[in-house]
Amino acid sequence: MSDCLFCKIASNEIPADVVFETDEILAFRDIDPKAPTHVLVITRQHFENAAELANANKDLAGQVLQAITDVATLEGLAEGYRIVTNTGSDGGQSVNHVHFHLLGGRSLNWPPG
Ligand code: 5GP
Ligand code: ZN
Repeated sequence: MSDCLFCKIASNEIPADVVFETDEILAFRDIDPKAPTHVLVITRQHFENAAELANANKDLAGQVLQAITDVATLEGLAEGYRIVTNTGSDGGQSVNHVHFHLLGGRSLNWPPG
């Protein structure tokens, strides 16, 4: 996807503060953090959202969950954290490349708005 922001980050066309990467997955700090730790975990391959990823490649979907787990450990989030993936307009998705928000480092409110 030539006009996709996160595809450009995945290909190093746009810089990001990368905290973890594999051949398939990239994790980088959100540019507008909502918690002391706010990392976005993406697949390098473009999928519109988590449902498209799950339907297309279940092994890769599992790798993403493992990567999130590894980043939570690297970030020292032993007190807990939250994983969020916004989907579509009602979900508040603003970048249409699958990404999981990993939020932690403070007590998080529930429910979200
Ligand atoms: P969404 O609203 O789609 O769930 O999440 C998109 C996230 O991407 C937002 O939290 C936003 O702050 C983040 N974001 C938008 N543009 C950039 C960017 O250029 N670099 C980084 N690191 N994060 C971005
Ligand atoms: Zn993309």
